[in-house]
Amino acid sequence: VLRLESVRKVFGTHVVLDDVDLDVAPHTVTVLIGASGSGKSTLLRCANLLETVDDGAIWLDGQEITDPRVDADDVRKQIGVVFQAYNLFPHLSVLDNITLAPRRVHGVSRRVAEDRARALLDRLGLAGKADDYPDRLSGGQQQRVAIVRALATDPKLLLLDEITAALDPELVGEVLEVVRGLKDDGMTMVIATHEMGFAREVADQVCFLADGRVHERGTSAEVFGSPQQERTKTFLRRIT
Ligand code: ATP
Ligand code: MG
Repeated sequence: VLRLESVRKVFGTHVVLDDVDLDVAPHTVTVLIGASGSGKSTLLRCANLLETVDDGAIWLDGQEITDPRVDADDVRKQIGVVFQAYNLFPHLSVLDNITLAPRRVHGVSRRVAEDRARALLDRLGLAGKADDYPDRLSGGQQQRVAIVRALATDPKLLLLDEITAALDPELVGEVLEVVRGLKDDGMTMVIATHEMGFAREVADQVCFLADGRVHERGTSAEVFGSPQQERTKTFLRRIT
């Protein structure tokens, strides 16, 4: 679904992504782990063309999206993104938050967009919240609405960046439960997270980033169970 080849990203003199390769197979979950500043968010932003790469190439479903002729909006239409801060529009109801992109960007009729939104809200335990405004919801509920909004356009790929980082601890569980459900449904996801227990559980593939390089990659059992690189061991020892 997504492939990065020798991706390099530089801010000034700072090499933030250095020769990064990544292959995300359909219906799999890839988890990016690594210290703060290791490049996880930058990688996700490059995949969504929120950043341009300085070298290398990125493919989405066989299309090279780093080709300068590609329309970035067209690429972003195919990818769902959820960030740490929920970024819901405060002046729009839950339903309008969710149906805005399908209607405005994808040209879906209100009726169809709302039916789909309600079905998704239902599935994520938010039935009855459609007409509420975001400030009436808990952080966990807001983040689940943000996930519904990302799903509303039926994306090929979902990018999740620290989606539980801003939540009170007791609200983290309900959001992670939603991600588990999406995995069971076969959604292809790339997740940056500091929640190691969760990473270990949901990841089909784990990439450990350090200083913008993929230092180690493997299955969850490989990377968490028997890390090969000294640096991975040190990282995992420090945070678990
Ligand atoms: P965290 O776990 O804290 O979210 P991260 O792994 O997501 O960290 P990034 O946000 O990708 O790390 O940042 C990687 C490096 O790139 C950092 O050193 C950061 O300061 C730098 N960086 C990110 N965005 C920019 C920018 N727009 N301009 C300059 N430097 C940037
Ligand atoms: Mg980050």
